[in-house]
Amino acid sequence: MARIRVRVEGVVQGVGFRPFVYGVASRLGLAGFVGNDGRGVVIEAEGEAAALDCLVDALSTQAPPLARVERVTVEPAAVTGLAGFTISASDSSGSRTVLVAPDTATCVDCLTEMADPGDRRHAYAFTNCTNCGPRYTIVRELPYDRPGTTMAAFVLCEPCEREYRDPLDRRFHAQPVCCPDCGPRLRLVSADSALMAGDPVSGAAGLLAEGAIVAIKGLGGYHLAVAASNEEAVSNLRSRKHREERPLALMVPDIEAARRLCVIDDVEEALLLDIARPIVLLERRSDAGIAASVAPGQRGLGVMLPYSPLHYLLATAHPDPLVMTSGNLSSEPIAYRDDDALNRLAGIADAFLIHDRAIHTRVDDSVLRASRGGPLPIRRSRGFAPAPLTLPWEFPRHVLACGPELKNTFCLARGRHAFVSHHIGDLENHETLQSFTEGIEHFRRLFSVAPEVVVHDLHPEYLSTKYALECDAELLGVQHHHAHIASCLADNEVADPVIGVAFDGLGMGTDGTLWGGEFLVADLAGFTRAAHLAPVAMPGAARAVREPWRMAAAYLDAVFGLQWPDAPTLKAFRARHETRLDQVLSMARAGLNSPLTSSAGRLFDAVAALAGVRDTVSYEGQAAIEFEQLADRSEPGRYGARIESSSGLVHGSDLVAAALADLDAGVAVPVVAARFHNGLAAVVVEVCERLRRDTGLAAVALSGGVFQNVLLVERCVAGLEAAGFRVLTHRRVPPNDGGISLGQAAVCGARDRLSC
Ligand code: ZN
Ligand code: ZN
Ligand code: FE
Repeated sequence: MARIRVRVEGVVQGVGFRPFVYGVASRLGLAGFVGNDGRGVVIEAEGEAAALDCLVDALSTQAPPLARVERVTVEPAAVTGLAGFTISASDSSGSRTVLVAPDTATCVDCLTEMADPGDRRHAYAFTNCTNCGPRYTIVRELPYDRPGTTMAAFVLCEPCEREYRDPLDRRFHAQPVCCPDCGPRLRLVSADSALMAGDPVSGAAGLLAEGAIVAIKGLGGYHLAVAASNEEAVSNLRSRKHREERPLALMVPDIEAARRLCVIDDVEEALLLDIARPIVLLERRSDAGIAASVAPGQRGLGVMLPYSPLHYLLATAHPDPLVMTSGNLSSEPIAYRDDDALNRLAGIADAFLIHDRAIHTRVDDSVLRASRGGPLPIRRSRGFAPAPLTLPWEFPRHVLACGPELKNTFCLARGRHAFVSHHIGDLENHETLQSFTEGIEHFRRLFSVAPEVVVHDLHPEYLSTKYALECDAELLGVQHHHAHIASCLADNEVADPVIGVAFDGLGMGTDGTLWGGEFLVADLAGFTRAAHLAPVAMPGAARAVREPWRMAAAYLDAVFGLQWPDAPTLKAFRARHETRLDQVLSMARAGLNSPLTSSAGRLFDAVAALAGVRDTVSYEGQAAIEFEQLADRSEPGRYGARIESSSGLVHGSDLVAAALADLDAGVAVPVVAARFHNGLAAVVVEVCERLRRDTGLAAVALSGGVFQNVLLVERCVAGLEAAGFRVLTHRRVPPNDGGISLGQAAVCGARDRLSC
């Protein structure tokens, strides 16, 4: 007979961990108790040594679906001889290091209840249990208990209270538990806020079938929904929302419906069915029957499956695909407060399907692609945040990393945990900046982080940099592309030095020019810039991002100087830009409002514009995204570029010249696009081989927004692996600027470890 005291840390509260321990201990005939405290779950168990071993083993191998066990510590305790096993009440004392779980898709048990006409939760839109439902979006404060959530206002009825108190019930201590008698209710209201009669879900489904736009309150904010096959309704939504040409996401009832729209392999199926229920970018079928304006110029579609009970009810009432795009005007963050949503969306939505459970934190849908047999995150948000990344290294000090300007996330770190925030967005308006500052405060309280050092980008105009400079703490500036590579290293838990290839739109360099086509020799703590694309002018600065043809002009200038040959492609290009071309060229040559950049993203823009894909874009990277999609994947040819061994300069203009020659020779654009991708990948391999000869390093990390381009990733990985490199790509945070905050925190932690 022995007694042990066991501590379990990780995501172990609000996920059914205590009932699980109770069940295992009872089956094993053990005595003792299980309870929560500020650090996780505590167990004392008494019985035969073999049974105690079984219990400890089960903690990590049989934990409930939403639990994430990070550490189990066992120590001996004095035998008491008391019989029976109990669950003790929550203890809110002690330090707050409990982890709040992300929001999770409705589980099968709850769906079964909702489908059962005899169940008291039949067709109830707020059904949830310990294994599913809202978490992070409703948490106001810790401990994670009902009074600390936006469910505090709903008083449990007797049957719900019984379930909540019963250790053997699936809803034991499920904080959002409720039923039609005691929980939130749905309403359908018109654009002028009048309550509409009848069942809200079938009412909304009826309106959608007629082509109406319905705003729907989801887990992390409002969606705007419209029937995806109805061209008129979708273009109506686009024009009311001012959402230029960005693709709109779709929701379909189940995986079979998703297969009717897109080609889906095993990896993509697993991503769609993940309990986080992200939007997955898939290749569309030619017979998908989706309105053209859902994703203009795109070969793919962003698809997700229902994740809240309300979505399931709606998908049953309206089984055809729905556009489900975030409820906002294009530049604003997603609406999540009811009064605000009714106000801001009144000019867009014809009706509102709403309810009275408040959303505490605005959280957008996550977006993934499949790559290299697993996920490639594009946006890490709902369903993933705020689960921390647990790293194999300690952060000696508490860190706040403020992240970039666009696609902002921030990151708080302490111990071995890096808490990367949900997607905040582009810090370019008051509302987004407010969710940034409020989000940081919320995270600081939830995860008990008191930043001793604040990390920022080197770009002085980023609002996140300005926020950092006003913090009353030690400051650390981290170069943008070093942060990209560090985020990839942290993502892969690699601390050794690597060759880092950081290709993105723009980031401030240490020399005051804008970088973005960088080969770094880097580890977490530092880097040297070993090679990079030869800089060209960005005529008009920010305008050159919105007007890729300006980058084509700048690259043509680099290729030909003052003497442009008399070639058909150039004639066509001149004809399109007659009025402004000379002005733009003289601006670039004089260096007026034309900062230099080594950006790979801008190189993509230049070739795409030259190939006639598009001269202007309505969102950053649009030309490059479309260029990738139309590339002929069976084309093996590639362009070459000179690499200067002394300076490490890579002449991207050679790729432009080669593309131009092909276009003049009448080679089809998809072939040109493929040869450009293949050529750039070959350049990456060649530069890495040179750097391996110089440094002995045989691992390459690929990061930066350009590596959202799956074709480029595949070609680079294939070439690098064939050359004997180990290649690191992103799995947990995005390669784009959404991963910058993690990289900033990782750099800070590594420097702190060196100095102590
Ligand atoms: Zn459930
Ligand atoms: Zn109830
Ligand atoms: Fe970047």
